[in-house]
Amino acid sequence: MSAGPLSKAWMARAERVTPGGVSSPVRAFRAVGGTPLVVRSGAGAEFEDVDGRRYTDFVCSWGPLILGHAHSEVREAISNAVARGTSFGAPCEPEIELAEWIVAAYPGLDRVRFVSSGTEATMSAIRLARGATGRDKIVKFSGCYHGHADHLLVAAGSGLATFGRPSSAGVPDAFTSETLVLPLDDEQRFIELLRREGDRIAAVIIEPVPANNGLLLQRHEFLATLRRETERAGVILIFDEVISGFRLAKGGAAGILGITPDLATFGKVIGGGLPVGAFGGRRDLMRHLAPEGAVYQAGTLSGNAVAMTAGLTTLRILERNDGWARLETTGRALEALLAPVLASAPFPARLVRLGSLFWMSLQQGEPPRTAEMIDPAAAARYGRLFHSLLADGVALAPSAYEVGFLSLAHEPAHLVGLRDALSRALARPAAHA
Ligand SMILES: *Cc1c(COP(=O)(O)O)cnc(C)c1O
Repeated sequence: MSAGPLSKAWMARAERVTPGGVSSPVRAFRAVGGTPLVVRSGAGAEFEDVDGRRYTDFVCSWGPLILGHAHSEVREAISNAVARGTSFGAPCEPEIELAEWIVAAYPGLDRVRFVSSGTEATMSAIRLARGATGRDKIVKFSGCYHGHADHLLVAAGSGLATFGRPSSAGVPDAFTSETLVLPLDDEQRFIELLRREGDRIAAVIIEPVPANNGLLLQRHEFLATLRRETERAGVILIFDEVISGFRLAKGGAAGILGITPDLATFGKVIGGGLPVGAFGGRRDLMRHLAPEGAVYQAGTLSGNAVAMTAGLTTLRILERNDGWARLETTGRALEALLAPVLASAPFPARLVRLGSLFWMSLQQGEPPRTAEMIDPAAAARYGRLFHSLLADGVALAPSAYEVGFLSLAHEPAHLVGLRDALSRALARPAAHA
């Protein structure tokens, strides 16, 4: 089954006025074929499209909706904030309270600056690292996505892997010439690079839990090596926690790993469904930021009262309800349900999961730890599964390289629904290819 008649009609209108009919490329279904659903509303773990069809949502707006759609308390807090005015271009109370919450929660973080997206957060953190060290080069890892700033659009994960491009058109070589790319999971290459060029490298940026090119869980020793070697070379280690931050634990991936970066970037969950990003770190680094220091960074709507209220309310609800432990329980239940189904699939398939993040590795052997290890044939298998699940009212991300997200709104019945839909999808002859 494909999109309903009203979704198709709306998408035809959208394509006449926006590139590909979307505001962000992966939404266009190019990787799986077919027409995207146009969504009208969401509640809890479900959404409804314009044709009135209901779906269980395992995309959760690509991460932000950790409480599910339209949580009543978040809704009420936002409405009350709106009634007092949306943005003042001046400091406001929820902004200061959210900053206090983040500083208290995240390891080694003394100061935080708010922006409006994850892209701005990573872009600004890199500028800060360069300003603080007086060095120009940065290191990123193949398969990690850090938003769409020019100098970070190199070997950058899902959206790009999906389109099979190493980089983006419109980015001059000169803009990426100071960006060095290494494979994940390879301490030796990293150590060699730092020994050779460490004194010219400002920062190393990594998703500590790479979740934009499949879920590429890293060995602790690899991440510990990054910490040890960057410290030795005076290189700033940036954890991009735009997905993992406040999703995997109150202290993010850093808290779970027991590895403290110099700077960290956030987005998605901290906005509670509204546009928010942030970056922060030790005071001695953050003091380089204007107005205290010489590294310029600014934003008209940064720290606005409505977005700050949405984020703060979301985090407080998580904290009050033991949210991270509950999400782990939900994740474990999903794993228990899906593991036997995937084990008996007609092709190699297994679930990779950490907390409320999950991904199906549809290839032989151990789950991949590097982007290079992902078998391109897995993407074709995924496309067929995706459409079968969607026809059964279960929405996964429209790309083999994207992870699934669980929220506190996902009930056992939603998980069983996914398990049953997956069993049916795997039993269909077309899925056997
Ligand atoms: C989503 C994401 C970004 C970019 O955030 P936007 O809000 O989409 O700009 C950066 N880094 C990581 C790890 C992400 O997952």
